[in-house]
This record gives sequence, C-alpha cells and structure tokens, in this order.
Amino acid sequence: MHTILIFVALILAGADTPDEALAKAQGKARKLQFKAAQVAYTRLARAHPDTAAGRIAAKRSQPSAFLGWDWVLYNGDPANRIDVVLMGEGYQVGEMKGFVKLAEDVPGFFARNRLLGAYSTYFNFLRTDLVSADNGVDGFGRDYDTALNGRTLSTNAGHVGIDTKAAWDVLRELPEHDGQAIVFVRNGILGTGGGGIATIGGKSIKTAVHEFGHSFGGLSDEYATETHKRGAPRRGKNVTNDGDPKKAPWAHFIEAKVRGVGMYEGASGQVRGAWKPTSGGCVMQSGEFFCPVCTEALILRMYSVLDPIDASSPPALSRQSSEELLLTKDGLEFMVQPLRPTTHRLDVNWYVLPEGNTPLGVPNPDRASARRYNRKHAGRTRKPGRLPLMKTKPWIAHRSARTGSSTLKLKLSKLDPGRYRVICRVKDSTQPRGERRPLVIKDLDGLLESERAWWVRVPEK
Ligand SMILES: [Zn+2]
Repeated sequence: MHTILIFVALILAGADTPDEALAKAQGKARKLQFKAAQVAYTRLARAHPDTAAGRIAAKRSQPSAFLGWDWVLYNGDPANRIDVVLMGEGYQVGEMKGFVKLAEDVPGFFARNRLLGAYSTYFNFLRTDLVSADNGVDGFGRDYDTALNGRTLSTNAGHVGIDTKAAWDVLRELPEHDGQAIVFVRNGILGTGGGGIATIGGKSIKTAVHEFGHSFGGLSDEYATETHKRGAPRRGKNVTNDGDPKKAPWAHFIEAKVRGVGMYEGASGQVRGAWKPTSGGCVMQSGEFFCPVCTEALILRMYSVLDPIDASSPPALSRQSSEELLLTKDGLEFMVQPLRPTTHRLDVNWYVLPEGNTPLGVPNPDRASARRYNRKHAGRTRKPGRLPLMKTKPWIAHRSARTGSSTLKLKLSKLDPGRYRVICRVKDSTQPRGERRPLVIKDLDGLLESERAWWVRVPEK
C-alpha cells in the first residue's frame, strides 16, 4: 500500500523514481558537478529512505563519501584488462577538480616508463570521486574526517597510509575491478604499497609507479636506506636474504649472463643481509626503469590476469564438446585477436590437424570453454598451465596483422574428408623491437601463451 502511494505521488509530481534520481545524482558527479551531486544524493536519501536507491544515496550524502566514478583511459573490455582504480583522499568538495586533473596525468606518466609503456594497452584507468569533509591526515593527536581515513604511519619519515578496508569498500562500489587501487593523499608524504593498494602522499606519480611495483607486482624495495624497522630481510622476487647467486630467485638471469644482473648487497631498507639483482637504478630503488628481474616479474604478473588472446570467433567450445563446424563450399573463417603491446606484436600460429593426430589428444583442455578464457575469473591460484608441445609445424605462422587480428580461411578444396582440429596459439615473445633478448626468460607456468581450438568436419565429396 505504502509503495503504491509513493508511486502515485511520483506520477502526480512528475518526479523521478528513486533509481532514476540515483542515476541523475551519479551523472552530476560524472559531469564533475560534485556539489550538485551531494545535494541530489541528500534529497534522494530524505525522499526515499526505505528504498535501495535511498540507502545508497544516504551513504553518498555523508560528509566524506564516494560520489561516483568515470574512465580516465579505456583501452578495452575490463574482462581482459588490468583496471587500475585511482582514488583521492583528503580532497574537499571544492578541491576535487584538482584530483581529476591529477588522475588524468597518471596514464601518460605510466606510459613513459619503458616497460609499462610497452604494455600500456593492457591497462584501463578509472577515477573514483571521493569527497572528504576535512583535508588533513590523522596523526600527532589529530583526527580528521576523510574518505579513506588517511593517517601518518610510525616510520622514520612519517609515510602516509590509509584505511585499506575503506579503499576496498570504494572498490566494491564499482561495476568491475581487479583489487588494484592507487590512492593519492592530498596532504601526506612519501608512499606505501602492498596487497593491491598503493598509497602516495601528494601528487608524485613517480612514487606511484614505485608503489604500484609493490602493490601490483609484489616487488620489494631495492634501496638500502632504513625507512622503518622491517625485521629480517625476506626472500622475494627481486630481493633475497642469501648472497649465494645459485640460490637467488633470479639465478636464471645470472646463468643466462644477462648484462648487469648479479648479487648486490643492500636492499629492503637494509645495508647488510639483503641482496638485489642490479647495482642500482631500478624503479624499486628510486630509478627510472624496472631492472630485468622486476621486468620479468611484472610481465608474468600481467599475464597471470590477462589472456594473450583478447577475442576470437567463431566461439570455441570446451574439451568435452564434440560439436563441430561443417566446412562447405563457402569455406570457414577463423579469427583471433591478440592483445597488442605498443612495441611488438604477439606471435600467432595456426594448426589444422587431422583427428587422431592432435598432441595429447585434444590440446588446451579447459581454456577452451568460453567462461574460462578469462584468467581473472579462473581464480588467483589457478595457473593456466603449460600447453602441450606441438610436434607438427603450423599451417600459418605469423605476427598478427597491423589491425591486430589474425584470420585463417579454410577452403573445401584443400582438405580431404574427415574431422580436423583447428588450433590457434598466441604467444608473447616479450621481445620488443630493438631488444637483444626476450624480457621474460623463465615462464614455468606457460603464462605467455594461450590457445583457441575448434572441431571441423569435412564432408565426403
Ligand atoms: Zn628491480
């Protein structure tokens, strides 16, 4: 009865439904009209407190709150991109346009880094609009009302930190995210990073790249200066607590005699007892480029989330499916769209194998089901696993065309009657033009490669 009355009232007044009002308030934030968005949320929360939209509006009309979000750089379907969420902490409503400007500068700055620039198309950037009632950072006995509860940590230099739980609450407001956020704290200093959240004091995007190395790549600090008490050094991807080069996590680089890689004492904020792979200059120290070891770790991390194959047609089926495509006089066309780094193209190999002659029965078991194409949804702990070796030469081997996609056309006249498995394999050589060696030299889990497969029936003539 109550609902009907509201509904009648809405019609009589010609007003928006609660959902429409919520969309409008969010739209105001997207148009950067933040004060108007706050007013609209407050009005909605008062008018319809018992509706889902009204409850969302009540949360968003708090003095410190999430108001909305927008893309800063959209490179492709979020299902196969790393979506980096930018957040501003301690920005009062009148200062939020300053954060909008800062957020717009981030993708370009990331792209100036040699490695992140080569793979810049693998990332989407989006901005969340967080308003803070105050613009201070907690600490020294003061407590401010801010969106993410920024505070000064007990490090020597007073690094800034935020409430990770609050940042995760903001991530949950988004339709899609990868648990990766970069938080800029307006009045904080230095930065911290880990567990997906990089926190930066001020506006230093250079610091953001370093913290992103921690939060996304799981990399350790390569500088020796003590910043705070960290306990005994631990073994990580780019830092180790054992000076024996044979036991180093990057021993394969030393074995391969990669120039400049060895054992250098002084890392993890410790002068002694911690070793790094190069004498200096890595982003994880305070340099401009990621060192070879960090570079390999970051590329593998990207491919633990992303599938080298971005799209394909016709839809491929699962291993169990015996569904087949019929080759007629019109022929069949298969298309695969690999991801596109800015520096090189991925290698594409097409195979057309008669049934019974496919390696290990049917290759690429599980990834052939559409749902599991997406490595993100495959779960964090489930690695794709190496593909079985192909014993035959590919029908067509090439780097994908300039447009990015690769097609295979099958003609009836070229094949004898029978059943065939059409397989397309895509692999990142990780060798940008001008590089003397691949950037990844050890890929135990076969992350750099992916595949699509189809059954084709060639009828009796
Ligand atoms: Zn490094």
